[in-house]
Amino acid sequence: MENKTDYLIVGSGLASMVFGALMAQSGKRILMLEAHEFPGGFGHTFEMANKYKFNAQFHYVWNCGEGETVDNVLQKLNLKDEVKFNRYDPDGFDHMYMPGFSLKIPSDAKELVTRLTNLFPNHTKNIVAFVQEVQRVARGLDHVSPPLKLPNILKNVLAIKSVVSHQSHTLQDVFNQFELPLEAQTLLASQWPDFLLPPNQLSFFAWVMLFTGYQRGAYYPEKHFEHVIKSLQKTIENNGGEILFQHQATEFLREDKNVIGVKATDLQSGKKFVFHAKATICGMDPKKAAHWIGIHHFSKALQKKLDYQYSPSNFMAYCVVRDLDLKKYGFGKWNVFHTGHKNLNDAFYQMYQENDYSNPSFAITTPTLLTSHGGDCPPGDQIVELLTVANYEHWKQLKFSDQKKYNKAKMDVLDAMINVIERDYVPDFRKHLVFKMTGSPTTNERYCWCPEGNSYGSNMTPKNIGLNRLDHKSSLNNFYFCNASSGYAGFAGTFWTGARLYEILSKDNVL
Ligand SMILES: Cc1cc2nc3c(=O)[nH]c(=O)nc-3n(C[C@H](O)[C@H](O)[C@H](O)COP(=O)(O)OP(=O)(O)OC[C@H]3O[C@@H](n4cnc5c(N)ncnc54)[C@H](O)[C@@H]3O)c2cc1C
Repeated sequence: MENKTDYLIVGSGLASMVFGALMAQSGKRILMLEAHEFPGGFGHTFEMANKYKFNAQFHYVWNCGEGETVDNVLQKLNLKDEVKFNRYDPDGFDHMYMPGFSLKIPSDAKELVTRLTNLFPNHTKNIVAFVQEVQRVARGLDHVSPPLKLPNILKNVLAIKSVVSHQSHTLQDVFNQFELPLEAQTLLASQWPDFLLPPNQLSFFAWVMLFTGYQRGAYYPEKHFEHVIKSLQKTIENNGGEILFQHQATEFLREDKNVIGVKATDLQSGKKFVFHAKATICGMDPKKAAHWIGIHHFSKALQKKLDYQYSPSNFMAYCVVRDLDLKKYGFGKWNVFHTGHKNLNDAFYQMYQENDYSNPSFAITTPTLLTSHGGDCPPGDQIVELLTVANYEHWKQLKFSDQKKYNKAKMDVLDAMINVIERDYVPDFRKHLVFKMTGSPTTNERYCWCPEGNSYGSNMTPKNIGLNRLDHKSSLNNFYFCNASSGYAGFAGTFWTGARLYEILSKDNVL
């Protein structure tokens, strides 16, 4: 089948969906190929037992407030009244628990200082200086991401200087620079599953963007994440665009320096197709796509940028509990982050390098408590999701050498986390558990099509998060990247990535 279209988009990840919706609305012909049966990539929603709906990966998101990235895009798409968000508790959107200490992270920076100095009164000066530096760097980062505006740069020279000084820093480097007590470091960085990296590897910039982003407002969609994705899908389809599900791109077609389309297979029928387009948008992993095309066809500068290491993979547990008032046990409009270690770097090492989950650190999220909309499970039932890190090579080896061992290992990790939940949070959690399912790194690879089961595309180390980060430019003609690894990861990050590419190619304004 021959098909000429304006933008042929490979993958229906969030960045692609945003780009596709904006372009379709502007009158361009869109054709999207998605290997999976559902749209949304990491953000897809699946149903189990005919009654429970789980979002594969999204938990909470930022930049959804008035005039922020997500809001601006929805406004442009006339979806603002349709797609709404509920705010997490500003007095404590993340609740951190570690041996001997706990901290509710508030939106207000002054309140954060007060809570930390109450816990660590001998370190008041350091805490104040650290929090101020975080605010300064956040301001600076706002003005160094495109589109650059000279008057703003001139007004924020000091903040931008701070940004430059931290270019190669990990979060740990900055904790050390400000001599924060170890327990304060652990409490502040307990949301490490949001990055799947510990402080000694995580880019300080990545941490600042997420931490201050959630301080401005942490959100959950009023009608769940599925509704957000479906609204974007509707916009594409109502404007004449088409999404072909279970269609896997197998090859990018190149003539000299031009990409002219893709070869694809319908995974249901096995039929092969060739699609030509004026421009091809790569919503799948850029590094994998570049290697399909032949990395030597890309400029030297691009080859360097494409040489990123993948972010670690993860372990997810999708659970349903019945007849349990989770609010009575400390759950609500917030996430719970638990760590059994004093030092998060050790906690991460034990799970990721040693595959030892005897003292797990993990996130607990309760989507049912974040909206009264319902729809994700029957009344009386509640969804609880658990998330931690997992080593791809280890789990792949297990899965392909011994399926039984692999299944048992998955249950062992879940058991280890539930043991902690019963010990520290909900004493008879298992009695109320009516559904459980786990996802390992190979599950990620299979359903999200992410190489090595990676969680966030390119790893969020200082090397990858900086001024030299990959963007939409591919160095080939009519071929653009549009994925977390060629912009920013996360819901807000991929909204920005898709909208920014739209702005560049259409010369229209959104952000
Ligand atoms: C465990 C976990 C938790 C997370 N939690 C949050 C959170 O709480 N908040 C937040 O903001 N972010 C979160 N994220 C990050 C967020 O989910 C991602 O950054 C974002 O969804 C990535 O979108 P993307 O546009 O890069 O595309 P992807 O989601 O990577 O989608 C790419 C799409 O391309 C398709 N594809 C790939 N190859 C082909 C091919 N050859 N042919 C056709 N289709 C193909 C795939 O099937 C997929 O649908 C989380 C991620 C993980 C892993």
